Amino acid sequence: MIRRTKIVATLGPASSEVEVIDRLIEAGVDVVRLNFSHGTAEDHVRRAELVRERARAHGRAVGVLADLQGPKIRIGKFAEGKIQLREGDSFILDSACQLGDQGRVGITYPQLVGDVERGATLLLNDGMIVLWVDRVQGTEIHTRVVQGGELSNNKGINRAGGGLTAPALTDKDRADILTAAQLEADYLAVSFPRGAADMDEARRLFREAGGHGALVAKIERAEAVAAIEEILAVSEVVMVARGDLGVEIGDAAVPPGQKRIIALAQKYGRVTITATQMMESMIHQPIPTRAEVSDVANAVLDGTDAVMLSAETASGAFPVEAVAAMARTCLEVERQMPCGGTSPVPDQALQRVDETIAAAAILATQRAPIAAIAAFTESGSTALWLSRAQPRVPIYALTPQVYTRRRVTLYRGVYPVNFPQSRHDDPAQVMRAAEDELRRRGVVREGDLILITIGEPIGAPGGTNTLKIVRIGGPQRA
Ligand code: PEP
Repeated sequence: MIRRTKIVATLGPASSEVEVIDRLIEAGVDVVRLNFSHGTAEDHVRRAELVRERARAHGRAVGVLADLQGPKIRIGKFAEGKIQLREGDSFILDSACQLGDQGRVGITYPQLVGDVERGATLLLNDGMIVLWVDRVQGTEIHTRVVQGGELSNNKGINRAGGGLTAPALTDKDRADILTAAQLEADYLAVSFPRGAADMDEARRLFREAGGHGALVAKIERAEAVAAIEEILAVSEVVMVARGDLGVEIGDAAVPPGQKRIIALAQKYGRVTITATQMMESMIHQPIPTRAEVSDVANAVLDGTDAVMLSAETASGAFPVEAVAAMARTCLEVERQMPCGGTSPVPDQALQRVDETIAAAAILATQRAPIAAIAAFTESGSTALWLSRAQPRVPIYALTPQVYTRRRVTLYRGVYPVNFPQSRHDDPAQVMRAAEDELRRRGVVREGDLILITIGEPIGAPGGTNTLKIVRIGGPQRA
């Protein structure tokens, strides 16, 4: 059995050397995430090149996801590097403060004073420290500490319930979009979008810079949860970014939010990534907790396309073990509790020929003993439609297009295959070559039925118009 749920691994200091990247690929990483909150443009370009070079050496396609920092609001630095806050202390966030002390600290976003009022709750360091806003005066936000603890340089600030007006794209993000286009990112993730307009703007900038990748909306603001349907309408992928989301909407609201976002994404035919703290303890330990294994398993059962590792692979002590633990969890859950296979073909008029072929293919896999689907695809859209219905059989996306092979790495149950073909090839010959390829991979055996979707003439994007069911080694073979 082949794992269907995909694994996204964030690269960082713990995973930049050739040897570690090789082991991550061998352990099953499908997509690497370049986190633009850390590192330089050169680091990211170098990592993307290295990953692609090693993926080629392994005969694999690995996608690259460039994740923009977004308007993460942060405190400034302290003269002593950190302070201890105690419940009941007064504390001032002051955009005019250069170097913080026990009584105040700077903030990177001076407009914060306009976004809060008496009674607002501010959460620092992912909710570890809770401040109640008493009053706002000039550049200063006067607060009282509700939950204390250690506060060190540059920690993030969220407002409980959302309501921060910072636009999604900062000047740094605009510069990073150019880098993402330069390194030919397969996915561009936008942090803290509030609605469709932020996604449209990011797409426009990315396309103007020559970027070809798909857009990922990170759902991490209360506003984005409210605007989820308009965001889904304009984004190919959504990420349930549970870190910031949990701080804004409250941790207990994250699991139902995750299920709702994944279900809505399925309705819109979109791809989902479930992210953050999935194997958190593996930053320091070689094995995950049972709770973490259950969390990954639940995301698989929710129907996520991919599960993501952050610090576990970027800066943790056991990056390869974290990927391996995730891979075995996904596989075991899929083996014991197969989901999909029965999704009804959408009860709606089908507008396009290629979509109609995909719907017919799904119906066939539900009623006939098909062993695998071979989907010839230029843009990957047939493979995407097929995978949205979660058929019980694997989908091999056969394509000569390197961008398409890298993009489908994120789709649940879809496996990219490098398959040179051209408009001049004889379709019968091409289909036989596909059979041979699946046989060579050990996916199918003599006598198995495979379902082939293809466009004739071969090679035209969006041109899938043919569905064929072939018996491996059957009489139709020459
Ligand atoms: C998150 O907040 O869950 C997230 C994925 O965003 P980042 O890691 O970029 O802060």
